[in-house]
Amino acid sequence: MATIFEKIIRGELPADIVYRDEQVTAFRDIRPAAPTHILIVPNRVIPTVNDVRPEDEPLLGHMLYVAKLLAEKEGIAQDGYRLIINCNRHGGQEVFHLHLHLIGGRPLGPMVVRT
Ligand code: AMP
Repeated sequence: MATIFEKIIRGELPADIVYRDEQVTAFRDIRPAAPTHILIVPNRVIPTVNDVRPEDEPLLGHMLYVAKLLAEKEGIAQDGYRLIINCNRHGGQEVFHLHLHLIGGRPLGPMVVRT
């Protein structure tokens, strides 16, 4: 079954797409955690970071490069931002189609709540 993100990439579900090329699609998170919250998603499905193969290395590097471009475009590069990839249950992953969160536009506080 297709993931929500595959459907967005194929144009079968609406999304606020801010960037697209042959490798990735980026769109605004439906439940933003900060003024800028963009998801950078590979056009082909890799379910989790655990599924990454050696041949995916250029794609993962490209995702970081697109994050940098979009941070500049959003005007948050100078103040800074956070990039997050969640993996599986402890990481809090909800959609099993690997994606990079680009979050910024306000101070983001501690990286992880210390318990
Ligand atoms: P993760 O917990 O890392 O798997 O993140 C999944 C993210 O996808 C969450 O921040 C959701 O708010 C976001 N999300 C879920 N459905 C949609 C959608 N249809 N459009 C945009 N973002 C979505």
